[in-house]
Amino acid sequence: MPNAPRLETRDLVRRFDGTAVVDHVSLSLEPGNVTCLLGPSGCGKSTTLRMIAGVEMQDSGEIYVDGNLVCDTVFRVPPERRSIGLMFQDFALFPHLSVGENVAFGLKGAGSERKARARALLDRVGLVHYIDEYPHQLSGGEQQRVALARALAPRPRIMLMDEPFSGLDNRLRDGIRDETLDVLKEEGSSVLLVTHEPEEAMRMADEIALMRGGRIVQQGAPYNIYNAPADKEAVAFFSDIN
Ligand code: ADP
Ligand code: MG
Repeated sequence: MPNAPRLETRDLVRRFDGTAVVDHVSLSLEPGNVTCLLGPSGCGKSTTLRMIAGVEMQDSGEIYVDGNLVCDTVFRVPPERRSIGLMFQDFALFPHLSVGENVAFGLKGAGSERKARARALLDRVGLVHYIDEYPHQLSGGEQQRVALARALAPRPRIMLMDEPFSGLDNRLRDGIRDETLDVLKEEGSSVLLVTHEPEEAMRMADEIALMRGGRIVQQGAPYNIYNAPADKEAVAFFSDIN
């Protein structure tokens, strides 16, 4: 297992119109783990992820990668230098680039090396035969797998995923979740996965951080949280799992 770094946020706060939508969020992501940030729509999950990615500034609090400060209110490492990969539901592929070019897009180095890396990842997600095709020729599930290959191509040590499976058909979703998890584990990325679905968190997470109203209300192993939810609202939130 590659020695993946960890990610830490300390007391992150983001206010809109005077209201804290992210309210002193302290998260810690262990090396190689998948941590799910789980909570209902509007609780502040995406805003938290956007601050970690560096595309939105916090009002206060700090972010550390590998124990090194990457962002506080005066100091800021730019997003592209944080070794962070992103995968969002609406993070579309470039329509005018081939599948192979999409995967190689963010890579540096010689053309042959970039191509080899793209080919290896496409092979891993079972789509190498599409390397010269264009995104519109692929199904939604296939495009999602290409997006995963593209996000992993630069070997990010941290992957941030914001509801990456919510646009997919129910029938496809379980398979793609499992495959994504396998690929992420092989690549050794540490993952922060945002979801509003308890079932998805239970299926994918090594650790769950339960969020509500901008705050982390409970954090721990899925089994522990499911069996001992912190309060009545957490019980209700988990009750729609079959
Ligand atoms: P989630 O991803 O959990 O659904 P978000 O982080 O997207 O939640 O949003 C949290 C809250 O912050 C919501 O009430 C949302 O309306 C509000 N919000 C998000 N971005 C902005 C913005 N740019 N301006 C004002 N309010 C915002
Ligand atoms: Mg969101």
